[in-house]
Amino acid sequence: VTKYLGIMRMVILSRAAGLYSTQRLLVAGLRRGHQIKVVDHLRCNMLIKEGRPKIFFENAPLDHVDALIPRIGASVTNRGAALIRQFESKGVYSATSSDALLRARDKLRSLQLLAQARLQIPKTVFVNALEDLPKTLDWLGGTPVVIKLLESTHGVGVILSESPQNAISVIETLTKTNERIIIQEFIKEAKGGDIRAFVVGNEVVASMHRQAAKGEFRSNMHRGATAEPIQLTETERIMVLKATEVMGLSIAGVDFLRSNRGPLLLEVNASPGLEGIETTTKINIANLIIKQVERSARYHKKQSQTKA
Ligand code: ADP
Ligand code: MG
Repeated sequence: VTKYLGIMRMVILSRAAGLYSTQRLLVAGLRRGHQIKVVDHLRCNMLIKEGRPKIFFENAPLDHVDALIPRIGASVTNRGAALIRQFESKGVYSATSSDALLRARDKLRSLQLLAQARLQIPKTVFVNALEDLPKTLDWLGGTPVVIKLLESTHGVGVILSESPQNAISVIETLTKTNERIIIQEFIKEAKGGDIRAFVVGNEVVASMHRQAAKGEFRSNMHRGATAEPIQLTETERIMVLKATEVMGLSIAGVDFLRSNRGPLLLEVNASPGLEGIETTTKINIANLIIKQVERSARYHKKQSQTKA
């Protein structure tokens, strides 16, 4: 029956059904007539077996899934990716592939990929030999510089350093405690603002300008930034879509700064939150995501049938 009505069985991987983004996707999916289950990835077990990979949720087998919508937090990226991979090996379509999730969660690897695709990013260095640190700061045009933990999220782990002495001691301290970091030129003219563009499929469906709170340079909503809808230029739109494609994503939150030499990419989020962007732009992004997942899952099914 489900085949004829276009009804799908979708699984949202999320810690809790009550989280804003999860709730919105659940409601949007149900409204479109699908069977939706919210599954806590940390309560899933996997049986890895030749030819017949299995997934159990609360000890019941999780079968006959048409599409997976992962909402995996940064603290459990690896475990989340392994579970997505298990679904993928069962032939299930995933709105975010395990590979793309892992790629996006590594800031250094992401920037390397974006730069390799000739997309503009702030000048960035990764230092292995600390004795050469002063020289590498010169590559960035000197201080101020932005020091970032590779695993930073919500702006926690992003430091503005004003002087070479300060930068060197901060970097030495972080390195000593085994933190992996990158150092970036500080884009002063962004004035504490950045842009979040939300991509679904091959389209930028919403974008907002975020302005950091007073006395703050980080424009994360979690750091008290305020946001307003904004129109992208054609150059920015093309850059955002290319960045999403390079990262192998079809749903993404792309962040960039407006600099004197044009837009510079900061990061591509594989599990972008819906609350800030929906509240700011009044666009029903959850519904657009569900429609995109329907299209992609249908295509994925056709592809695997023709292969078989
Ligand atoms: P996170 O993943 O923790 O959000 P980001 O790289 O996105 O880390 O940085 C957080 C915020 O800090 C950005 O949204 C931006 O406002 C500011 N920021 C980051 N890098 C720079 C930079 N090179 N120049 C100026 N501001 C920056
Ligand atoms: Mg960010």
